This record gives sequence, C-alpha cells and structure tokens, in this order.
Amino acid sequence: MSVVVRFAPSPTGMLHVGGARTAIFNYFFARAHGGRFILRIEDTDTERSKQEYTDEILDSMRWLGLDWDAEPIYQTQRFDLYRSYVRKMLNAGTAYKCWATAAEIDEMRAKAQAEGKKPMYDRRFRDFEGPEPAGPYVVRFKAPLTGTTIVHDLIKGDVSFANEEIDDFVILRSNDAPTYNFTVVVDDVEMGISHVIRGDDHLNNTPKQIMLMNALGMKVPHYAHVPMILGSDKVKLSKRHGAVAVTNYREEGYLPEAMLNALVRLGWARGDQEIFSKADLAAEFKLEGCGSSPSVFDRTKLDHLNNHYIREKSLEELSDLLKLSYGVDLSVLLATPSSRKLFEALRERAVKLTDFASLASWYLDNNFVRDEASMKEIVATTPRDALDALAGKWAALATADFSGPKAFEAIKETANNLKLKIPQLAKPVRVLLTGTLASPDLGIVLEALGRDRALERLRRI
Ligand code: GLU
Repeated sequence: MSVVVRFAPSPTGMLHVGGARTAIFNYFFARAHGGRFILRIEDTDTERSKQEYTDEILDSMRWLGLDWDAEPIYQTQRFDLYRSYVRKMLNAGTAYKCWATAAEIDEMRAKAQAEGKKPMYDRRFRDFEGPEPAGPYVVRFKAPLTGTTIVHDLIKGDVSFANEEIDDFVILRSNDAPTYNFTVVVDDVEMGISHVIRGDDHLNNTPKQIMLMNALGMKVPHYAHVPMILGSDKVKLSKRHGAVAVTNYREEGYLPEAMLNALVRLGWARGDQEIFSKADLAAEFKLEGCGSSPSVFDRTKLDHLNNHYIREKSLEELSDLLKLSYGVDLSVLLATPSSRKLFEALRERAVKLTDFASLASWYLDNNFVRDEASMKEIVATTPRDALDALAGKWAALATADFSGPKAFEAIKETANNLKLKIPQLAKPVRVLLTGTLASPDLGIVLEALGRDRALERLRRI
C-alpha cells in the first residue's frame, strides 16, 4: 500500500508544541515509508481562522524542516466538493434534511437530560416523507442505531464505540457550510489518505468519521492517535506552562534540530537513544515506537539537546545564524586562532543561541559591565602590589609572546612571589578581565584579549 498522510492544522492560532509533534510524526512516517506528506489547512471556521496564522504555521514548519509535498490544500476552496458529497448521501438515503429549529433542539436536549439520557437529537426527521416544510434546514447523517464501531487504532489498540451513543449529527449547516467531521472524511477519502496520525483529542470523532466512510462505501484509513503532551507538573500542556508556540522557542534561541529531536521523543522512542538526526528519523521512524501513555515536555531535556546541537555547529555556521536570526555579530571572533578558541569555549557553554550575546559581551565591548558584588569583593581583598607586579610581568612580554600559558605563568609566579595562593590572584584577574567568575578558561580569555586589552583591564580597578 502506498503511504499518504496529512497534517491538518486549523489556522485559529500559532503552531504549538502539540501540533508540531503531530506534524513531525506524520512527516517522518511518510519519509520512512516512501510516502507523501500533505498539508491541509482546515480553515472552515471563517470567524476564527486567520491568514496570519496560516502564514505562521507554514513558517514554523519550514523552520523545523518539515517540507510538504504538493501545494497546501485549503478547505475553504473545496465547499463545492463537500456539497456534492452531501447530495450524494441525500440521494442514497444515508443522510436527510432536518427542519427542527434551534429552540426545538434545545427542548429535545433538555428533555433527554431530564430523563437522565445523553442530550441527543430525537431523529424526528429521519424517516420524514411528507412534503418538504418551508424554512431553513440542516442535513444530518443517518447514523446506524445499533451495533458498535471499532477504531482499530495502531497505538491504542481496538477502541469500541456503541453506535446508539452517536447522534444523527449534522453534516451540512443551514448556511450551507459543511461541518468538521464531514470535511475531514471527504478530504481523507479524496486525498487517498492511508494513515491518519493525530492527537488523541480527536479519538471521539473517529467513530463518526468511520461511519460516514462506511456509508459512502469508502475505504477507511488506518488510524493512529497519539497521546497528549503534559507539562512538567503532569497537567496537559497549555499556555499556563509558558511558551507553547514553536515561534516562541525559535525566538528564545532554540535550534530547529533540538526542537525536532525533543518533540519526536514525546510519545515515541527507539530503545534508549536520545539523539536523533533528521536523516535518522527519515530512514527509520515507525509507529511501533509510539507509546500509549502521555509524555512530559521537559525544558531541561530541550536545553540539553539545544546545547548538543549548538556544539555540533561550525563557528562559521553559528556566526551566520546569530547575525541573521538574532542580530548578534560575533564575526570578529572568527578572525584569529585565539579568538576562535574563545568562540569554541563559548559554544560549549551556550544553552540557547541568545546566550551568546551575554557570554561574549565582555570580549566585544571594552565598556562591558562588571558584576558589582564580585568587584566589591575583589577590591576589598586583592593586594594592589600583586596586581601591579602582574601588570609589570605582562608588560614585559612582547605582544606576540602573550600566549595563554605564558600569561597564566605570570599569574602563578606573581602569586608565588607574594605568598598568595594562585586563586587569590587568578580570581580577581578573571573578574577584572571578564566581569564575572563564570567565564571560560583563563588561558583562553587572556590569549583572546591579547596583552594590551588585558593590561588595560587589569589596571582598571
Ligand atoms: N484540524 C484539526 C486540528 O487542528 C485536525 C483534524 C485531524 O487531524 O483530523 O485539531
């Protein structure tokens, strides 16, 4: 069987973590099975759908590298198709017109509830044969009254639904607009979808969709409902947990590789492997790896992955990316072997791309701001004669000789001569040169700054 899958976002908001995970599963399932990955924009809710959300969703998908096959399909452009299917069902007697008014429907619901039953439409027009009443009508599906509908879910196993629980639901509204369950069925059938992979919040819609397909005499696709995503507090992930839109993560300085890797691991695994490249997944993503319990979206893991992928980038790539996407210009760090060594050290530490600006600020700007508390401490505790002696030793070195080891040797000698422990001098030097105690290896710092900048900073106390 040829694999055709779809990602079907509703453009009523930005692409969030859960939607992106669904897109990722579909994308890699298609790639690993030599199939097609189609993008369908479910924009029939014209009040809540916005072009800017569609643009944003497409943008996030491009950023994640989820390229779709063929042009995106917009449901609003297919209303004629949906209506032709409605007519087909009316003619076949698998759907019928219903003239019940909104007030009558409310009454039926209230009555059912009062009788302790599920609020349902009472099917009063199901077998109606008289002359058609005047006035607006909806079209309802003639749902089977008995039996069960089983969803053979590839992740959850068989899930049964009693048909009597399912209403003769509306497929065409009185304003001639088709409903969600109907458009999905027509599209999944028309697009030849082989596998529907989506969030399990849609599981309750699936028996309705299967019933419609059966009524249309169409082949039912395979279904795979992926479990929901929880926040670190084990509650369903939502805005309450902070950023949920992919764009937010991008702005915060996460790499698409890290985002992709973190999201694919939500409900999917292969052994205890943690790092997955796109190529890996495109070759090997199988639904068998999907678990049936909810998974937790963990920031710490994302951070860890992001640092991993940052360290995998070349300095040139990082410099371009930082300039282009974050307006941070670190190209000066590419210039010399010693500045490159510093760039490499910063790359080790950066958790997010946005960290580079602050990690490198002391290097880029001679008027960098020093940490106040650390300065206070060293001003109070560092003997000035030690700093003066060190300055003398550094000044005696030729600029070309000012290597990391030699400049650091001078610190050691000065400390020894004055009976100080090495950290008693190295610590204040670090603060004077970089403004904080959390900077890279002092040898790397010294060599990258060079003699004159190091001396100027040492004397500035
Ligand atoms: N448009 C639906 C959503 O955004 C998805 C429907 C489906 O995948 O069948 O939740």
